[in-house]
Amino acid sequence: MFKIAGVRLIRSVFSAVSVVSWAVLLGACAGSSLPDSGGPRSWIVENVASKATAELYADVIKPGVFERLSSKVIEGYTVESGNLVMPDNSLGSLVTVRSADGSLTALVEKPKESGLLVVDTQGKSTFKIPVTKNYSQSDFIVDEVEFRRLSKTKPIIASEPKVIDIFLGYTQVAVDLVGEPHRHALAFVENVNLAFRNASVSGVSLRLVGTQVVAENYLIIGATLRNLFEIFSIGIKNSAPDVVYGVLGDHPENNAYGWGFMPGRSAIGYALRPTTFLHELGHNAGGLHCSADGGAAVPYGYGFNNGTTSTVQCGEGSVNYSSPTLKDQDGNPLGNTATADMARVWRENAARLSSYSFGPPRNFKKTGSTITKVTFGWDPVDGAVRYDFYSTVLSGPEVRKTGETTGVTYTVSDTFGRTQYFVKAVDAQGKESILSNGASR
Ligand SMILES: [Zn+2]
Repeated sequence: MFKIAGVRLIRSVFSAVSVVSWAVLLGACAGSSLPDSGGPRSWIVENVASKATAELYADVIKPGVFERLSSKVIEGYTVESGNLVMPDNSLGSLVTVRSADGSLTALVEKPKESGLLVVDTQGKSTFKIPVTKNYSQSDFIVDEVEFRRLSKTKPIIASEPKVIDIFLGYTQVAVDLVGEPHRHALAFVENVNLAFRNASVSGVSLRLVGTQVVAENYLIIGATLRNLFEIFSIGIKNSAPDVVYGVLGDHPENNAYGWGFMPGRSAIGYALRPTTFLHELGHNAGGLHCSADGGAAVPYGYGFNNGTTSTVQCGEGSVNYSSPTLKDQDGNPLGNTATADMARVWRENAARLSSYSFGPPRNFKKTGSTITKVTFGWDPVDGAVRYDFYSTVLSGPEVRKTGETTGVTYTVSDTFGRTQYFVKAVDAQGKESILSNGASR
C-alpha cells in the first residue's frame, strides 16, 4: 500500500498551498465587521441558562443557516453538529457543545472565515478568530517503522464499527484561548465525526476518553510531537487512548499550525484551528496533501481541490476529507478513486487506529440488583478473551481480583454498597488493560 519514495517532495507542495489559502482568508477578513485575526469580540448575554442554544450563536453564523445533522448527549453535554448553508449555497459547518449550566463552546467554520465562540455561565460571550501565518515548514514526520510495517500488510476494511479513543492534552496557554478544555475537546472530536459523516466514512468514529492541562508552554514544532507521550504521561496513563493530540497556543517560534506522524497515533496543533486537528489526524491515518505531486507515495491518500473547494488534507480548507462520493455545492466531486479518497484511507486504517490501546472496558456500571446481589455490565473490548473482576478491600483504596468471566456482565453478593468494583480486559497473550472506571451498588 505504501511506498516511501516521494514523501519529502510533497512537503514543499503543501507549503505553497498553505500560503495561498491563508492569503485568501486574510483578504476575506479585511472588509468584515469582525475583528482582525486574533482579536476577540466580546459581548454579554443576559440569563444565559434560559436561552436556546441557537440564540447564543445566531450572530456569529450570519449569514449562514444551520442545518443540524446530529444531536446527542455525551457526559452530560449536549453535542450538536451540521452544515452552515451560506446564501450562495456554499457550505461551512457548526459544532456546539453545551453544558447543563448553559455555557457553550462552538466551532464556526464558514467558507471564508472561522472562529471559536465561548459563552460562560455569566453570559460573557467571546468570539476568537485564529491568527494566520505563512508557514514554510513541513508539518508531518514520516514514521518509517510504522510505514514499513503497514506496507507489508494488505489493508482490511473492518467488518464491525471501530471507535478510535482519543486523548486531548492542553497547555495552560491553549486553555486561556479556548476556555473549558473538556468542552472544547468534545467539540474538536465532534468536528471530526462530522467530517466522517460528510465523506461517508461509515463504521468509524472518534471518542474522547480524556483531557489534561499542563502548566508549561510547548511550541508547535517537531520536538513537541516527539515528546508528547511524556508531556501528557499522567492523562494518557489514566485514559488509555488509541490516539493522542496536543492542543497548543500561538507562539512566534511555532513553525507550523500542527505536526503529526504519518502514519501514526499522535499529533499536535494550534488550539484555534479545528481544521488543523482534522488535517493532522489525516496524516495519522496515512494521508498526505494535495495530489498535485502526482499521487505516488500513498495511492488515493490525498486531499482534493476542484478549483472552487478543497478538502482538509489540501490546505485545511474545510471540514471535509476527500471522497469520490462527496460533492460541493455545485455538484462537483471532492475526490476520486485513483488519488483522492481519504474516506477509504480512514476505513482501511480504522482497525489499526482503534487498536493502539488495549481496553480498558468502557461504560462499566451497575445494570441490576436484588436485596443481596448486584450485577454490573460493560462494553466489550476488541481482542479481549476474558475480563477480570476487581473489588476494593474493606472500602479502602486497595483493589484485588475477585473473579473473572468471558462475558460482559458479572454478579456479586453485596448488600451494603460499601465496595467499589472494577473490571480489566485480558487478551489471548495475557496482556491486561488498565482498570475500568469504578462502580458500586
Ligand atoms: Zn500536513
